[in-house]
Amino acid sequence: MLATILHKPGDIRCEEIADPKILQPTDAIIKLSASCICGSDLWPYRGLQPVDRPMHMGHEYCGVVVEIGAEVRTVRPGQFVVGSFCISDNTCPHCRFGFQSSCVQREFMSGAQAPYARVPLADGTLVATAEVPSADLVPDLLAVSDVLGTGWYAADAAEVREGSTVVVVGDGAVGLMGVLAAKEMGAERIVAMSRHESRQKLAREFGATDIVAERGEEGVARVKDLTGGVGADSVLECVGTMESFDQALACSRPGGTIGYVGVPHGVNFDGQRLFFGQKRMLGGPAPVRRFLPDLMDRVLKGKIKPGKVFDLQLPLAEVADGYCAMDERRAIKVLLRV
Ligand SMILES: [Zn+2]
Repeated sequence: MLATILHKPGDIRCEEIADPKILQPTDAIIKLSASCICGSDLWPYRGLQPVDRPMHMGHEYCGVVVEIGAEVRTVRPGQFVVGSFCISDNTCPHCRFGFQSSCVQREFMSGAQAPYARVPLADGTLVATAEVPSADLVPDLLAVSDVLGTGWYAADAAEVREGSTVVVVGDGAVGLMGVLAAKEMGAERIVAMSRHESRQKLAREFGATDIVAERGEEGVARVKDLTGGVGADSVLECVGTMESFDQALACSRPGGTIGYVGVPHGVNFDGQRLFFGQKRMLGGPAPVRRFLPDLMDRVLKGKIKPGKVFDLQLPLAEVADGYCAMDERRAIKVLLRV
């Protein structure tokens, strides 16, 4: 099959490799309905994460089960499934506590920018739909696998509830999904921090009530203005830089909560600032598996359309153009037709 391989930073190719096989009795093989490129795929692409050997890219997926290992019980060939980018058994103490992304058997999915993929721990990782959904729902269900699940976790970790005032730092695909999540959770005011017109527009569509284009101290001042000098109850940090963490901390009210899902790069915390600021924080890789049944249900019932976040669609063979478009921020998120 043709699959996406990153050879070295900037060198991404679609090339022929062997089809995936069942390696463990707990594996499943799925035929992908679509795949996509994640913002986090850009780190090795940009050389910000080492590439020691060719990497088989892709960790967001949905599709139809074609083969299962001898011990798989909860999914069977012919079923449409969505899985998390974190592989989990869904039975260990961390999974049962709702933190499947810290599963004792955790692995990170790879190899999903391809027509077929192997999913380890299929019983704990995959959730099947009752019927094979119509093709127009595939982008929405694909979004659930990572980008929506991560935005949802940011809002959940930031304790967004009915009537909350929320600030979302970051207007990438995850930030935009954070806006959608906050809206679904009943937030009254959702401030999206964004400088890009197309992203501001999408943020409004997903439920943002206010847009703040300023950054740094000016951005904080604007948020303070909008919240009567108080700050936000919940802040979703969806970038992972020191600048975005500073923004998140400064926009949060005392006793407020920050959900952070941008993987920190070069971020350090000042203990005294956290202590005297009285800020609560929870973050990390999203336990998407916890949210999958609920989010898939919302998509299937037509309540949410997270697939709108894909603003460019390309055939898998043109994956290199997709990486380039996201790297240059010409595209928010690229869907790959397989
Ligand atoms: Zn587990």
